Amino acid sequence: MPEVPEMEIYKNYLNQWVKDKKINCANVYRAKSVNLESKEFCTTVIGKQIKGILRQGKYLIFQLDDGHFLLTHMMLDGRLFLMTIESETPQENGVSKAIALQSEILQSDAEDLKQRFKDLPGKASVVFGLSDGSVLFFCNLTLGYLHYLGQEQLETKLRELGKDPLDPNFSAQNFAQLLEGKRGMIKPWLMNPKNISGVGNAYSNEALFSAGILPTRLISTISHLEKVNLFNSLVNCIRESIRLGGDMEEPFASWDDFIGGYNAYFKAYDRAGKSCLVCGETIRKSEVGGRNAFFCPHCQR
Ligand SMILES: [Zn+2]
Repeated sequence: MPEVPEMEIYKNYLNQWVKDKKINCANVYRAKSVNLESKEFCTTVIGKQIKGILRQGKYLIFQLDDGHFLLTHMMLDGRLFLMTIESETPQENGVSKAIALQSEILQSDAEDLKQRFKDLPGKASVVFGLSDGSVLFFCNLTLGYLHYLGQEQLETKLRELGKDPLDPNFSAQNFAQLLEGKRGMIKPWLMNPKNISGVGNAYSNEALFSAGILPTRLISTISHLEKVNLFNSLVNCIRESIRLGGDMEEPFASWDDFIGGYNAYFKAYDRAGKSCLVCGETIRKSEVGGRNAFFCPHCQR
């Protein structure tokens, strides 16, 4: 499941490639992925300009020029894909050709699209044709979604979320304060989006490993210094993952080779049975709060 690093990488690509473009045409392939009736959703978003893309936790927020927003969450297997226009074709001719191709693409059914674009990271749920001729695919939004929301609706939704670990106003001290007086085990707390937003199984395991704290440790037994270390470990893992291309293997566009670079750097996550890179002990796996915890019984306590 994409977490903060993967969504941040999407956000950066979208701000580079999609920002300031208008939505020329749209098609909803999976009615349940959107919050309006499919046709109404399309007529509503068509003609709107995308002013910018923000991220909070695992959510991406497209700001539209009508004061509304498109809020998307990928959940388990949602993916984005951008079909950009050939850069070598002369600009104007290239765009008009691409726009003709857009309407053709948006008239094909989801199975045809899968056949036609081998790089597509899944089944198209919603597709936008943009004013520069590019096509933005929202794929596999089965548990995930793309919702058209007003300012108030968006704020209500986001108010439920805990602080984003990369929020510049969120410090190790704030993090330690949040944990003050909390009960239960640390890993489920870290993964609850009401506490911290955007941290899932991969990066919670990794941060706990780096901080030397067992996933099952009771919050009440964690010292202030350990809390500060845990926050710094979490932020470091996330920043390092963003720098290396995250852990998602699917490209954002056919030219995108900045993918999955962090997979080689996980020290605990998904390494059950392998040797700990620090002490050589075998990395164990157990279920904690309904999710797999990976840990080194020697390095973590
Ligand atoms: Zn170890």
